[in-house]
Amino acid sequence: MPIDPTAPYDDDNIFAKILRGEIPSSKVYEDEWAIAFEDINPQAEIHTLVVPKGRYVSWDDFSAQAPDEEIAGFVRAVGKVARAKGLVEPGYRLLANVGENGGQEVPHLHVHLFGGQKLGRMIG
Ligand code: 5GP
Repeated sequence: MPIDPTAPYDDDNIFAKILRGEIPSSKVYEDEWAIAFEDINPQAEIHTLVVPKGRYVSWDDFSAQAPDEEIAGFVRAVGKVARAKGLVEPGYRLLANVGENGGQEVPHLHVHLFGGQKLGRMIG
């Protein structure tokens, strides 16, 4: 089900449960600001999700409301995960789905990190 990016944060969403350690994930990275784990239904050779620890529904409320320090911490965490996975050469793709048109299904902000193969164009 697509989510409403303007809805209040739901503490029962699946990534909130992963962040609290209530359900397992194949965690590959964690720092003060973010965790990263492998997507349960990978769409590329490498498909990792990077998730901020803060309670943000989507890129919309994160970009509007998060303190600068938290935004910087999350952006740096995404880069660290990509480097740790050896993706910088030959490259990778980042994607954040927002709301219904974006096809967002989990109402906690996450960035998809795709790599490990030559990626096709994915619009539409
Ligand atoms: P969205 O469409 O919200 O941008 O992407 C949600 C992503 O979360 C999907 O790629 C889906 O496969 C992944 N996902 C959904 N539930 C789980 C889960 O319980 N564990 C993990 N690791 N990934 C999940």
